[in-house]
Amino acid sequence: MNTSLSIKNIAVLPGDGIGPEVMQAAIEVLNAVACKAQVKFNYSYGLIGGAAYDKYNNHFPEQTRSICAQNEAILFGSVGGPVKDYLLPKWNNCEANSLLALRQAFNFNINLRKANIFAELAELSPLKNHLVNQGLDIIIFRELLGDIYFGKHVLELSSSPKVASDVATYTEAQIASISHFAFKTARLRKKKLVSVDKANVLATSKLWRLIVQEIAQQYPDVQLQHMLVDNCAMQLIANPGQFDVILTANLFGDILSDELSILSGSLGMMPSASFNADGFALYEPAGGSAPDIAGKNIANPIAQILSAALMLDHSFNLPTEAQLINQAIKKTLISGFRTADLVTANSNCTVVGTKEFTAQVIANL
Ligand code: NAD
Repeated sequence: MNTSLSIKNIAVLPGDGIGPEVMQAAIEVLNAVACKAQVKFNYSYGLIGGAAYDKYNNHFPEQTRSICAQNEAILFGSVGGPVKDYLLPKWNNCEANSLLALRQAFNFNINLRKANIFAELAELSPLKNHLVNQGLDIIIFRELLGDIYFGKHVLELSSSPKVASDVATYTEAQIASISHFAFKTARLRKKKLVSVDKANVLATSKLWRLIVQEIAQQYPDVQLQHMLVDNCAMQLIANPGQFDVILTANLFGDILSDELSILSGSLGMMPSASFNADGFALYEPAGGSAPDIAGKNIANPIAQILSAALMLDHSFNLPTEAQLINQAIKKTLISGFRTADLVTANSNCTVVGTKEFTAQVIANL
């Protein structure tokens, strides 16, 4: 018996639409990695979203919550049905009832998204060639449980004139929690952190800047820069190479992380992770359940596979194995293999399905 085998326990929630297909791809890649490393992955499957509703009449049943609580990390696919069917009970509020409930149940207050441009896919990026050629490797940290989404929302349609207001609140503890996470990550990378706010106008941003500035004293090796959100939105297009780690609040992060996701060319490319203060985390692709292509073996599995790689790196301290996966995807793209969403008129490539692309990634590990 090999006594040095390390066992990692993962809650696997494939969800709806393309979720089960791309999850299967990620599990096959994890199994192939396990064969090469001194590690064994145990998977506990749970139902979530419409798939859970079919069995339990509930998008996030207690059984699934319990599976998550008993494991070391959560690998999540995607939830939701066709947008046109959103009023059917199975799909009504499906994302809020499952994904948002899951985030709240485990206090996932820190969201990380990683944007890379693979040189082989440069033509898919909306950026100018000279910017793409400089490469892009950015992590954005978005606070998830504070800000204007969680304050009081008032919509007075019967008054004249009609009025509406939304209250944004941040506490010192909320800002500090994500700031430490971002500084620690920046320390392991290029030691550069850009904190994004609107401190010239908003009180929440003034507090944000003050707390980030205070916490920076504990990380003197990390160079901190403050940037206003309007400037950041512009700089991400004009000169993305200047960024390494970005730290920002919930609303700004929502918008900037979507802007970032398209720089790499396809929604099917971007992994994401959400952490709580104890480091427990949920890993998921940035895109949705893509019901329009579900069950056709054409979904791009890269974001789900990269989410699994993020899990190896952050939850299981297996950076070498995570890097192995990143390199295998790169090699597969260099060899010319593409899922349908990655093909452009200029592409000289071999179009393959989800399963065939995954098999190539595994062969390249
Ligand atoms: P979507 O992200 O599912 O799809 C948008 C477009 O991108 C579609 O054309 C789809 O085919 C394509 N696409 C997405 N992922 C892809 C992949 N891996 N490979 C190839 N193409 C891909 O967004 P939508 O259509 O607005 O929403 C569909 C459902 O997903 C809705 O029910 C929505 O609520 C849900 N949703 C879930 C999540 C989540 O689970 N985290 C996030 C966003 C949307």
